[in-house]
Amino acid sequence: MPVYPRCAVRPVRGEGCYLFGEDGERYLDFASGIAVNALGHGHPALVKAIADQAATLMHVSNLYGSPQGEALARRLVDLTFADTVFFTNSGAEAVECAIKTARRFHYADGHPERHALITFNNAFHGRTLGTISATSQPKMRDGFEPLLPGFAQAPFNDLDAALALVDEHTAGFLVEPIQGEGGVSVGTRAFLHGLRAACDERGLLLVLDEVQCGYGRTGTMFYHEQLGVTPDIMAVAKGIGGGFPLGACLATSHAAKGMVAGTHGSTYGGNPLAMAAAQAVLDVMAEPGFLPHVAAMGERLRGALEQMIPNHDHLFDHVRGAGLMVGLKMKTDARRFVAHLRDEHRVLTVSAGENVVRILPPLVVEEYHIAEFVETLSAAARVYVDAADD
Ligand SMILES: *Cc1c(COP(=O)(O)O)cnc(C)c1O
Repeated sequence: MPVYPRCAVRPVRGEGCYLFGEDGERYLDFASGIAVNALGHGHPALVKAIADQAATLMHVSNLYGSPQGEALARRLVDLTFADTVFFTNSGAEAVECAIKTARRFHYADGHPERHALITFNNAFHGRTLGTISATSQPKMRDGFEPLLPGFAQAPFNDLDAALALVDEHTAGFLVEPIQGEGGVSVGTRAFLHGLRAACDERGLLLVLDEVQCGYGRTGTMFYHEQLGVTPDIMAVAKGIGGGFPLGACLATSHAAKGMVAGTHGSTYGGNPLAMAAAQAVLDVMAEPGFLPHVAAMGERLRGALEQMIPNHDHLFDHVRGAGLMVGLKMKTDARRFVAHLRDEHRVLTVSAGENVVRILPPLVVEEYHIAEFVETLSAAARVYVDAADD
């Protein structure tokens, strides 16, 4: 189905921070499959782990015990606030599990009427019927009605508006601490602490969607760690498998108290091949220098972009984000500029809402990649003919 526009970039091979097309042409990949290829392309430890596991045991049903799943879940529990984990194959499924866990908590708690989650304008939680019901974006919702009831939207970073929506049907809040697709909008400390406090006061659940901003992307394992805000439930995916399709829903045992035998399931979720990929990713991320490297490269990238902006201030407005989740806000159509970068300069980025160029390099990016990126971006800006100037 032609749900994505056709694109002349057709990669057939990857190596570190570069992709190669059918004719051998090279692209600098600062999109990482939208924050997925955390270790870049062809990372030897990840490749070997997948090859070895494929030869040993690829898939078994979740009807049987899983030493591989238990081992990864144990590691995630040790790393986070969570006591329990459910593995999925994608981000949307991780969010679906989070929504079900939140609803089922209140059901098990004797309040089945508390089924509604408060979500936020410009949020993105996936493309299933449940997750599009959680967003306010018409382009994702139009024509798919009737959508799932039980969601209400407030403006992002507007605590008072969110609290004003709380009523006897509210189960909790579902929020990206940094909105990705919505335009790399960073949730403020006051906003996220305010949501947490409201949850504590009213027995609601704070559900964080860290599918994009989590898993090392911002220089800590999860972004909420930097804010000192702890969720009850969290959806994770994208970087977790380094390119192997995997997601996870993490929760405290309290929040997950409704998720008993038979309430949820997945045929593929958490199969041994996925677990091997995730173990390899975690092994690399657990090396002592890994997260500090992400933070340092993030600062370097941001600094270089900020220095460049005044030279092209007719095009660029400001830089935002955290770590290696960076948004370059444009004064013009970002989608068109991203295509220009891609087609004329062989640099891959992703456009995001509100005219933002989303910059998501592999977390193993080095200084010379950043220098190459910013130089090319600057060269591209110099020759770019804005549609408005045509
Ligand atoms: C990408 C994304 C999702 C959906 O993940 P899929 O793997 O595409 O289903 C959900 N939430 C956020 C914040 C995302 O960035």
